[in-house]
Amino acid sequence: MENLKVHTFYSPNKIILGMNTTSMVPEEIKKLGGGRLLLVTDPGVVQAGLSVRVEESLKKENLDYVLYDAVEPEPPARVIDGGAEIFKSEKCSMILGLGGGSSLDVAKGISLLVTNGGKILDYCGIDRVPQKGAPLMLMPTTAGTGSEVTRVLVLTDEALNLKNVVFTPHALADTAIVDPALTLSMPPGVTADTGMDAMVHAIETYVSMNATVFSDVLAEHAIELIARYLPLAWAKGSNSEARYQMSVASTIAGLAFGSGGLGAVHALAYPLGTEYHMTHGRTNAIMLPHVMQYNISGSPVKYARIAQLTGRDIQGCSAIEAAALSVAAIKELLKSINVSCHIADYGVSKNDLPKLVDGGMKQARLFVPNPRDLSEQDVHSIYEEAF
Ligand code: NAD
Repeated sequence: MENLKVHTFYSPNKIILGMNTTSMVPEEIKKLGGGRLLLVTDPGVVQAGLSVRVEESLKKENLDYVLYDAVEPEPPARVIDGGAEIFKSEKCSMILGLGGGSSLDVAKGISLLVTNGGKILDYCGIDRVPQKGAPLMLMPTTAGTGSEVTRVLVLTDEALNLKNVVFTPHALADTAIVDPALTLSMPPGVTADTGMDAMVHAIETYVSMNATVFSDVLAEHAIELIARYLPLAWAKGSNSEARYQMSVASTIAGLAFGSGGLGAVHALAYPLGTEYHMTHGRTNAIMLPHVMQYNISGSPVKYARIAQLTGRDIQGCSAIEAAALSVAAIKELLKSINVSCHIADYGVSKNDLPKLVDGGMKQARLFVPNPRDLSEQDVHSIYEEAF
């Protein structure tokens, strides 16, 4: 029964969201205890001139830091292990992650390793990290993964060619600073992929069997904002209103899925990422409409509400008819930002279908909260539809 359900909400200790809040970094660092800082980022973020903004604000206040800009996309475990070694050899005392989800997840992993010891792969799974990490500040430059507010970090296990996760409340940031001005430089492709990642978080958690009162309100608002503002941010990167609203949407979608859970879109997207090296956001975007279509009968009323939130008129429709309009709305959104939802368009051969099915089945833990059960044959059919 719904009123017997337990609703839990996770979030960082403090979230600051607003245009140009990068200027608040020094004072917030001092509040976390100060000391030598490890600034964790990737070469793309450095090249976009974003790390220099943070570095200048640190220098102005004479705050000591070391730059670790070796993050790779979909970060392999060795990047986290290597960062922890640098943290120790440079005698740092806190960490600032700056970038997309890849940089933020590496920062989270380093924070955990320097207090708990070992290698990051030792901690994959749920609640396997004994102690809190080193003080952690996270600043996203994409909108996005929502990693700045979640208790999970995602890494690539290169030996197994598999994405894996470390799930622990100790991965929550002490302070998240969300400055939409940092996202203005995202090129259209990154804007589209990361924006759809946020949409997948919001939709998957909204229809999840683990949805909570907290995730529902946040997800609804995020879906509405992304449907409205993602095409604007994609079409004109300098549109600061659209960037602002996308930063709001990705942060609240992160809070939503961090307290609600994900589902089959993520499960079926992961193999596309590991086998074909597509970005996390793009693989999620490709699978979204196909899994939504499959899921409708498991949660028609919520999918009907998604149709409304994405601008469809559902008056006079049955719940199932209205739910189907949500799939049409998502396909239209993808078209408007030039993202194909057909796997074949990405050079994947249909002969690879068994490999994809095998990879999808390895993520079956994500089928549990999905609103409709999936068998291996169902997974096969969804991929076939996606071709
Ligand atoms: P990313 O961090 O891999 O960055 C993608 C590219 O965009 C990089 O080349 C980066 O340099 C560039 N970039 C980032 N910000 C930019 C900016 N403002 N201007 C110009 N270029 C910029 O991409 P992402 O999609 O943000 O993160 C993906 C990773 O996050 C994946 O590993 C995924 O699994 C993980 N993830 C984590 C969570 C979580 O809660 N921890 C949630 C979802 C996804």
